[in-house]
Amino acid sequence: MDFTLSNEQRAWQMTARKFAEEEIRPISLARDEIDDPRDTFDWDIIKKGSRLGFRTMAVPKEWGGRGTDFVTQALVMAELARGDSAISKTFSQCWKWSHLIAATCTDEQKARFLKPFLEDDTFLLGKGISEPSAGSDNRLPPADDPKAGLKLRAERRGDEWILDGEKCFIANASVGKLFFIDARTDPNVPLRQGTTMFLVPRDTPGLRIGKVFNKNGWRFYQNAEMIFENARVPHANVVGPVNGSEMKTHQAGDRTGGDLFGDIELAANALGVCDDACGMALTLARTRKQGGRPLLAQQVVELKLNKMHLLTEALRSFVMRVAWEHDHKLHSANAGLCMNFSTDLIQEVTELQSRHPCRGRRDRSARRQARARRHHLEPSRRRHRATDESHPAIDQITWAAFR
Ligand SMILES: Cc1cc2nc3c(=O)[nH]c(=O)nc-3n(C[C@H](O)[C@H](O)[C@H](O)COP(=O)(O)OP(=O)(O)OC[C@H]3O[C@@H](n4cnc5c(N)ncnc54)[C@H](O)[C@@H]3O)c2cc1C
Repeated sequence: MDFTLSNEQRAWQMTARKFAEEEIRPISLARDEIDDPRDTFDWDIIKKGSRLGFRTMAVPKEWGGRGTDFVTQALVMAELARGDSAISKTFSQCWKWSHLIAATCTDEQKARFLKPFLEDDTFLLGKGISEPSAGSDNRLPPADDPKAGLKLRAERRGDEWILDGEKCFIANASVGKLFFIDARTDPNVPLRQGTTMFLVPRDTPGLRIGKVFNKNGWRFYQNAEMIFENARVPHANVVGPVNGSEMKTHQAGDRTGGDLFGDIELAANALGVCDDACGMALTLARTRKQGGRPLLAQQVVELKLNKMHLLTEALRSFVMRVAWEHDHKLHSANAGLCMNFSTDLIQEVTELQSRHPCRGRRDRSARRQARARRHHLEPSRRRHRATDESHPAIDQITWAAFR
């Protein structure tokens, strides 16, 4: 397996690194500390990133997008997450649903929805599955229990469907313009046989946005309630067959039961946070002195730094392998395993960083990383290349070609 990056992949990576350093990092901590969750969002950074292609890069070239491969998407995601994990996620959320549009929508739907998405720097996408009483239940419904899973109801009336119910925790809900919504079209059969996916624009009559959730981590990223009260959605917005919402991953070629893009998305995001934690710990260890010597001269510190780097490079290898597999249409359980691996690993790396002896108690960056780490605990991150010529143990770290 050759992990050498093409010139195009390297260019995307470098553009993302520069954007994260120059544009994202300067606003990250201040945004993270705003109390009202509705005020943490910033359109300016979205517009700037969109102009560089970070919002639309997953749309296939034949539909007017950049047509980047999964390796490029993983690289960009990790770079943006080094600057701010939640801002990276806001962009990649659009890639996720671009994949879904490309894999599941008719040509007419693609033309109707991708064109405005590509043209408008403020056009964000989302998907509503979770409800107040249906979260894990949507992923692991008892096979024969029609009562399990989401309840939002859709009934056909002529050329329209009437949607009634509530979604919660929906990413980009308060800022997005188009949503995939899973609704129950046959409540008498189990979830997988009775659910239909709809494309629902934000200005749909009968749809309103409720509260924005006040999360502990990923504060820039907006998660809100979506309330449907006799919301009218045209039949032309049904995605795939009625009662056939399971085609989400199937039509994209995935037979593993996982989320083809969502798994690698979270793992690559975690990788960016780990990169940041490694860089931050190393910088502090090199600059802070104790007993007249830099902390880096203490063997216990050196060992911890090495462990952080070791784990981070292991995650990078796994993420890149899965991205490469996706590009070659080799779908296995690896994507889900990689995501699970990343959620454990990000805890360990950032904990090593936050227990770093030289970290001040008031260190805001570390606090933000801890928040990002806490986020990655949910079901379903600073700087400098760490090469220290003066220190043999650190020198021995081999940086992968794709850094
Ligand atoms: C940051 C963020 C963004 C999100 N974005 C979206 C989005 O864009 N769209 C969307 O639809 N949803 C979104 N969600 C919701 C997410 O999908 C749900 O939180 C998730 O499915 C879990 O559901 P829940 O929160 O209701 O927890 P529950 O399902 O109530 O689970 C609570 C706890 O019980 C455990 N548990 C549940 N069932 C079982 C079982 N059978 N056996 C053992 N343990 C069990 C779980 O592991 C968990 O620890 C988001 C959530 C977060 C935090």
